[in-house]
Amino acid sequence: MRKPFRLGLTGGIGSGKSTVANFLSESGAAILDADAVARSLTSAGGQAIPALLAEFGESILTPEGAMNREAMRHLVFSNPDSKRQLEAILHPLIGQAMSAQSKVAVAAGHSCLVFDVPLLVESGERWRRQIDAVCVVDCLPETQIQRVMARSQLSHEEVASIMSQQASRSQRLACADAVIFNEGIDLAQLKHQVNEMGARFGL
Ligand code: ATP
Repeated sequence: MRKPFRLGLTGGIGSGKSTVANFLSESGAAILDADAVARSLTSAGGQAIPALLAEFGESILTPEGAMNREAMRHLVFSNPDSKRQLEAILHPLIGQAMSAQSKVAVAAGHSCLVFDVPLLVESGERWRRQIDAVCVVDCLPETQIQRVMARSQLSHEEVASIMSQQASRSQRLACADAVIFNEGIDLAQLKHQVNEMGARFGL
């Protein structure tokens, strides 16, 4: 059996990652979504909850027992050690869950696995070892802001602040094996670019 191709998919907030992932899925790729895994691990009864409780105490849980994202975000912003502690708990669990999902996808016959990891560049070598190529979805920063504002209640400043916490455009592009420039094109043209990239990697 041919070894499955493992494509890392990343990009800043609002760049169009999910849209690209959907197009790849339509072409038969299995999508492994790191954010969805993280949400499941930190939901009530999730696998990360006991360790989070032991590390940070009840103040970072909701009354239902899920991780309180707002409280956690606040803690992480104000204390870099908390960020490291949170990552030390979550990263191994996310890695295990994604690895289990890849095995299921390969057993189901998928020859392309897409690791949809928004913070792939930010997490350094950890992800790079597990994938064959990195695809960066890129657009102008102002376009990211307009897209996110159009689909959320966030203000211009709030989106810009989230972007300032993420890797810069140039840091991301420096890690790319393929770039999808999702700017000034409609969804049909975006799909075409995705298909061209797929052809390039033999997907
Ligand atoms: P996030 O990081 O916030 O999850 P994302 O990178 O996954 O965002 P998407 O959700 O794919 O981005 O796209 C953001 C919004 O912009 C969506 O509403 C999507 O439909 C729209 N969009 C993305 N690319 C295009 C395009 N080329 N033409 C029109 N709309 C687009």
